[in-house]
Amino acid sequence: MAKITPAMQQLITSRYWETTSLSDMNDAQWEAICDGCAKCCLHKFIDDDDVEEAHYTDAAKGEEVMHFTDIACQYLHTKSCQCTEYEDRTELVPHCVKLTQANLPEIFYMPPSCSYRRLHAGQTLPSWHPLLNGGKAHKMHSMGMSVRGKIVNELEANMDLFEDRIVTWPLDEID
Ligand code: SF4
Ligand code: SF4
Repeated sequence: MAKITPAMQQLITSRYWETTSLSDMNDAQWEAICDGCAKCCLHKFIDDDDVEEAHYTDAAKGEEVMHFTDIACQYLHTKSCQCTEYEDRTELVPHCVKLTQANLPEIFYMPPSCSYRRLHAGQTLPSWHPLLNGGKAHKMHSMGMSVRGKIVNELEANMDLFEDRIVTWPLDEID
């Protein structure tokens, strides 16, 4: 189990997310907002009308509807829900979304429970967020807000039958 560093403990104690906007956060503050749910590592599709017309995407525009599948990137560790290639992720996976302060307006890539999306929309962090739980992800996993236990590796999935793997749980919010 990862140890909470003094720097992380200081972030947790300061509750900086209540007083600092996303655009004013430093790198450490920005990184700590990520709850680690890994829903952004699922394959997604956009649909103008219905699922029959859906097509694979790494982006969506305007009012297009985003469908999430339970198919996960091959580099996602299915138990920890962490990226096994974090440093090289954007080179290895061109459609890997690296959320930054510059592309925040395109946050519709993310599921509704994404902590960046919530703060961007003026909401608070969810009660299960690691920053509100001593830096631990246990509550997030136990409350079913991460992808743990629900996904299939893309190397084991038939991408031609993605319609069969569309799921709605990535859209869930519980508070
Ligand atoms: S959906 Fe948002 S909060 Fe969850 S892992 Fe992805 S970037 Fe982090
Ligand atoms: S490369 Fe890593 S961060 Fe990017 S989608 Fe895959 S598992 Fe997620």
